[in-house]
Amino acid sequence: MGRVISIANQKGGVGKTTTAVNLSACMAAAGRKVLLIDMDPQANATHGVGVDKKTLEGSIYDVLVNKVPIAEIICKTEMSNLDLAPSVNELVGAEVELVDMGAREFLLRQAIARLRQDYAFIFIDCPPSLSLLTLNGLVAADGVIIALQCEYYALEGLSELLQTIKLVRENLNPGLAVYGVLLTMFQHTNLARMVVEDVRGHLGKKVFDTVIPRNVALGEAPSFGKPIIYYDLKSAGAQAYMALAKEVISRG
Ligand code: ATP
Ligand code: MG
Repeated sequence: MGRVISIANQKGGVGKTTTAVNLSACMAAAGRKVLLIDMDPQANATHGVGVDKKTLEGSIYDVLVNKVPIAEIICKTEMSNLDLAPSVNELVGAEVELVDMGAREFLLRQAIARLRQDYAFIFIDCPPSLSLLTLNGLVAADGVIIALQCEYYALEGLSELLQTIKLVRENLNPGLAVYGVLLTMFQHTNLARMVVEDVRGHLGKKVFDTVIPRNVALGEAPSFGKPIIYYDLKSAGAQAYMALAKEVISRG
């Protein structure tokens, strides 16, 4: 049975999508069948794997709002083993459209129930909010990867996120675990080193050994619609995401 992992942090721009896209691509390259679900109306993950929105048959919006079976909107990417459930900007309206729908936190979970047997990993890229879309991502998942940027305010908002995860576990999804905390955009500065030490001090073993460096190629790859391993395999960013994929596999 496949493992479902959401990548979350309500803070914006901390590396969630970069992680969702590149971890998915590394797992796929390692021969694991992967589905990447884009739950963000910004649709950055959709563009990041090179899927053109003009060619879409539908999106995760249709799944959540119009009850279209998810299999009908899943598309292949140029990479073997990597499929995508794409997002579109219209997803921003889902929040309002779903307001009076029953069990609205369970829509994604129900939608992917049958897919677990088809994929080794399902990664969900969550938007930068604790909205209904993120809640759907948390309710659907077995685990959360929390992306934390190595900067002064790294831990800001973390207690709110951990509290949300706890509430989801108590009320909606008892199986939800914090799968790991990922430090991103590390630079060799004293401040970044202090942040890493501080985060490891607070969160201990939950923090992945792998730290993602700030790396120019990682920032460039999305504009070519390519995961880093197909853009610049030798880059420090590619090596780091390959190491993360190994770590995730070894965590079982
Ligand atoms: P949002 O909250 O808006 O969804 P996010 O948490 O998904 O943002 P990303 O989109 O992954 O964050 O990253 C924010 C920006 O930083 C992007 O332009 C991305 O290309 C860049 N970026 C992310 N990680 C790195 C890195 N390790 N090195 C260099 N640039 C990075
Ligand atoms: Mg994002």
